[in-house]
Amino acid sequence: MKHHLDWSSYETAGQGDAYAGIPATGGDFAKAVAVCISDKMCQRTPKGVMCPSFRATDDAAHSPGGRVLVLKAALNGELGTDPFADARLADAMELCVGCKGCKRECANQVDMAAIKIEYQAQRNARLGVSPRDRLVANLPHWLRHRRVLRGLIRWRNHTPWLAQLGERLFGISANRQLPEPAVAAYTAAASNSDHTNGERDVILFVDTFAMHFEPEIARAAHQVLSAAGYKVTTLQALPDDEPERALCCGRTYLSLGQVEQARREAQRLQAALRPALAAGTPIVGLEPSCILSLRDDHLKLGLGAEALALSKQVYLFEEFIAKEHERKRFNLELKPLPPGKTLVHGHCHQKAVGAMKSLRKVLRMIPEFEFELIEASCCGMAGSFGLEAEHAAVSMQMAELDLLPALRAAPEATILANGFSCRHQIREATARNASHIALLLRDALIDTEEKKTC
Ligand code: SF4
Ligand code: SF4
Repeated sequence: MKHHLDWSSYETAGQGDAYAGIPATGGDFAKAVAVCISDKMCQRTPKGVMCPSFRATDDAAHSPGGRVLVLKAALNGELGTDPFADARLADAMELCVGCKGCKRECANQVDMAAIKIEYQAQRNARLGVSPRDRLVANLPHWLRHRRVLRGLIRWRNHTPWLAQLGERLFGISANRQLPEPAVAAYTAAASNSDHTNGERDVILFVDTFAMHFEPEIARAAHQVLSAAGYKVTTLQALPDDEPERALCCGRTYLSLGQVEQARREAQRLQAALRPALAAGTPIVGLEPSCILSLRDDHLKLGLGAEALALSKQVYLFEEFIAKEHERKRFNLELKPLPPGKTLVHGHCHQKAVGAMKSLRKVLRMIPEFEFELIEASCCGMAGSFGLEAEHAAVSMQMAELDLLPALRAAPEATILANGFSCRHQIREATARNASHIALLLRDALIDTEEKKTC
């Protein structure tokens, strides 16, 4: 079996263990599946926050362990000669939203999100990519025509018959609004050049979503880092490689099993980052699923030592600030924000890699700031999952598990959610806007005039 991802990190998994239950085919991918020891901890009651699809459906078949059983049957030849085209395997994998909750919470760290990417890539190779998945995954390319796309999306969002047509043709739920690109994309602010010794140089990676949908977040991040004394340079595409298109981690391709395209995006990004990697300059990004892809799934793209170096040099905005603050290098004076509680919803991947700790530390830097973390699994949007006609309802059921009740219980609270999809889901379900940590910190900056009068 030819793998689409590089599973060699599992080469020795289960070696010498007669009870490892490694399937007969599938090589190192089969070993990644077989790290599950079937202890059913992911099907326990109370259900914890591990698997949103199990929690929403109350069906063990939609838990990580339930999926492993079907994957093992497939790799042992029990689902026929072409199991990746089999409906039983498709049913088992369908509701996995790739949240990595299992990688974080399962004692054996079953990485079902990565397993699903391989599964989807195998299925795509046999049955082809659906028009919807092609449409969604290619978003970074469509955004070259941002104005036209914005007009189309706005028209669709305000025209029920067009939304119905979109559902019939592409399976995009007519009941959901699509995120609309901003009027103007982020344009790289000039780097502040007071510092020349490289010690406080930072590369700001403005991903596709920040660039085209919420440029104010990128502007706020630039402003905050500059105010803290860093020389901030916005990462730009190389002049000979589609310079007009935002650099992208390839997440939209990867999560829909279009691994080759994701690899090309990753290579393009890697090429643009080569000087920063060589100089050891920290790379700071804003969107959890992009940045944590670089640190995790990208290591399975077979991109060598440079990918490994990048994974160690890339930080979420809040991780970078927390780390620098710890080293007493980030000494930014902040003012209190308007009083009131803020509810914090962590992106699944933020939670999976333990990045919520950094977020908490940074929030504590704002004087008198009152916040509370919501204990929740995935918000249910998970990239395009919640927009898919057949998944829109279960996506909302996932949001109803913890997130929406917590928001309803505090109608006056402001909301912080660093994930683009999470903010979209919250807006759709509650008509409330969630903020990003970069915007909060920007609002807490003491401006120069204010400082003079203090
Ligand atoms: S996925 Fe993890 S928690 Fe679930 S049965 Fe397997 S080992 Fe246990
Ligand atoms: S990645 Fe998330 S949805 Fe998929 S099996 Fe793991 S916990 Fe469940």
